[in-house]
Amino acid sequence: MAVLVCGGAGYIGSHMVAALIEKGEEVVVLDNFQKGHKKAVLGGRVYEGDIRDKVILNKIFSENSIDSVIDFAADSLVGESVLEPLKYFNNNISGTINLLEVMKDYGVKHIVFSSTAATYGEPKNIPIKEEDDTIPTNPYGESKLAVEKILKWCDKAYGIKYTALRYFNAAGAHINGKIGEDHRPETHLIPIILQVALGKREAITIFGEDYPTKDGTCIRDYIHVMDLAKAHSLALDRLRKGGDSRIYNLGNGQGFSVKEVIEVARKVTGEPIKAEIAERRKGDPAVLVASSKKIIDELGWIPEFNSIETIINTAWNWYKNHPDGYND
Ligand code: UDP
Repeated sequence: MAVLVCGGAGYIGSHMVAALIEKGEEVVVLDNFQKGHKKAVLGGRVYEGDIRDKVILNKIFSENSIDSVIDFAADSLVGESVLEPLKYFNNNISGTINLLEVMKDYGVKHIVFSSTAATYGEPKNIPIKEEDDTIPTNPYGESKLAVEKILKWCDKAYGIKYTALRYFNAAGAHINGKIGEDHRPETHLIPIILQVALGKREAITIFGEDYPTKDGTCIRDYIHVMDLAKAHSLALDRLRKGGDSRIYNLGNGQGFSVKEVIEVARKVTGEPIKAEIAERRKGDPAVLVASSKKIIDELGWIPEFNSIETIINTAWNWYKNHPDGYND
């Protein structure tokens, strides 16, 4: 039986495909390659297309024996989502509904869904637990929360069992050195910091120094992309064994401020990395740190690359060897 990875050429999706192939799974990849990279897909049967297109979905489900889906196909930029909410609701909600309709038609009953810490909004308690309030402060988080609710009803009506994984900040690169993070344009903190270290940018702009945190900059929980992939794999195994639907946080349980991340990157790279302070970015909560106790207890997930130094080091290893990302 095959696993369909939607968005399998993207940053997290490509690391998932690599993990599934290493595990000996039969993998089918769907990606529209708007943001994904052909070179990032290290194996599997690849289809070019969009989850909003039923023609390509029907083709994939009729040509392969798919028993499970892992869905990464989405727009995922907080700042952009505030400016273009309809783009986010169309791609992230309509796209997933389309996918679920085809899963229902073909009797496919397992889906692991990429959700996000942005479903919580400004948290009342740190670390954040799964049962805490979900009041998103941006359309990206809202779109993912909407899909979580849709999944709940699809489970009740059609018996489609899901695991929604609420990621905190995915970072780092594969230790095989072949795949890493390459967004165009790049908006994420660690890649931009490393572009400064490489001399490709003048400075890192710190979005806000007036947050109620120890140094005034936002605190995030960074999780290695291979640890994320491992969690999806465990979630998939559990669903295939007849497990119920679940929602899990995925983070390391430790928060780092933007300034701390820059400081660690200075140590890892040996470069000065110039930083400048600017206005806050719209939609950013001050602190997002996960409690991942539930997935650790229930799935036995153990993050392997959980120090911020290791995370930045693996990313640096990839950037040093691929200064132009997948264009090299
Ligand atoms: N950030 C920043 N400068 C940048 C990019 C990001 O100060 O050029 C901050 C951002 O405000 C957030 C943190 O770094 O607090 C992580 O942002 P990123 O875009 O990497 O991930 P997100 O938290 O949006 O998923």
